[in-house]
Amino acid sequence: MEIRNIKRQFDGESVVDDVSLKVMPGQVTCLLGPSGCGKSTTLRIIAGVDMQDSGQIYVDGNLVCDTVFRVPPEGRSIGLMFQDFALFPHLSVAGNIAFGLKGGIRPNRARIEELLSKVDLLRHIDSYPHELSGGEQQRVALARALAPRPRIMLMDEPFSGLDNRLRDGIRDQTLEVLKDEGTAVLLVTHEPAEAMRMADEIALMRNGRIVQQGAPYNIYNAPKDRAAAAFFSDVN
Ligand code: ADP
Ligand code: MG
Repeated sequence: MEIRNIKRQFDGESVVDDVSLKVMPGQVTCLLGPSGCGKSTTLRIIAGVDMQDSGQIYVDGNLVCDTVFRVPPEGRSIGLMFQDFALFPHLSVAGNIAFGLKGGIRPNRARIEELLSKVDLLRHIDSYPHELSGGEQQRVALARALAPRPRIMLMDEPFSGLDNRLRDGIRDQTLEVLKDEGTAVLLVTHEPAEAMRMADEIALMRNGRIVQQGAPYNIYNAPKDRAAAAFFSDVN
């Protein structure tokens, strides 16, 4: 997936200011930056739920959106996970995965079982969301997002609602499942420690721009400026 020169303004204010970024197959790319810097807006544009003022989006080398041409969200081979991953309360685990987030092709029973065993929840296939812990619901949401086999998964602070004690375990399991499925990941977070743990590549964002990009330890060891250094100072 690649975006080129994406710009977005709200009320004359530049929120995304000429952002270009590539997400490579098999990799986790992390869009990292403080609250309000434009991360979610960038993700929403890629997902197709918001529209850029200028710039292009490509998936597998094919244009999916510029200012005159636009593939709808369900045609982009993109999966989504947000902090508020709300499952449908009236549907079982299997029903949630089968129904999906936006319709489209329904996964068959074998695919649902395959995904539930990957997230280690096969025994809960007929449970309802209220019978599951927060971490388990999160894993169902992951299975639901993966069901249509998206080429790329967009994740917006997906772990921030979880209990601290569970978070690292769920982060690691999520990565394992995504790698196993071969899904590329664009993960948005404001937490440097999360980016250091999960990313193959970090794009550091500030005031709507990507100010530095590279492997986690390269950025951590050689932050480009004082603001970048200060931002990483609480990682240990
Ligand atoms: P982040 O995810 O990095 O915290 P966002 O992309 O959510 O940042 O927001 C960046 C800026 O854009 C914020 O100042 C926010 O208030 C503004 N913004 C986001 N969406 C809208 C909108 N629909 N209308 C007006 N301003 C918006
Ligand atoms: Mg956000």
